[in-house]
Amino acid sequence: MSQDCLFCRIVAGQIPSRQLWSDDRAVAFLDIGPWQRGHSLVVPRRHLADGADDASAWQEVGPGLTAVADLVRRRLGADGVNFLSNAGAVAGQEVFHFHVHVIPRYQDNPGMSGLIRRDPAAACDLDGLWAHLTGPS
Ligand code: AMP
Ligand code: ZN
Repeated sequence: MSQDCLFCRIVAGQIPSRQLWSDDRAVAFLDIGPWQRGHSLVVPRRHLADGADDASAWQEVGPGLTAVADLVRRRLGADGVNFLSNAGAVAGQEVFHFHVHVIPRYQDNPGMSGLIRRDPAAACDLDGLWAHLTGPS
């Protein structure tokens, strides 16, 4: 792990996160600056900068991607999801530890136009949202 890497430190529990799911290879947690309600990230436990050159990294996050997609459909009523991973600064990557965004989508805001913007309403009460997602069903 890299002490300089935000997501390595989240995986190690040194920085708090609102964790939704984990297995021995990957961790999923709520994004702190959501584009949509329930926007989450799935990251491998091992450090690698991005997924552009390493097919096995996608296998590591795969179970987390389907688990989070299932969770937001069941608990938040999402009608669909976008999966997105930025590789390289020019592509908009800001945290250089491979991660896949899972972005829940709702019928009242369909399509791709206007998707990629922080939504203050989606960020409201992240603790309450996390409790709703991780509490008893
Ligand atoms: P990217 O631009 O693809 O590198 O995305 C990085 C994402 O990490 C952004 O959507 C941020 O909102 C998110 N992020 C940054 N710091 C944290 C944090 N401490 N906990 C959860 N998500 C974070
Ligand atoms: Zn890292």
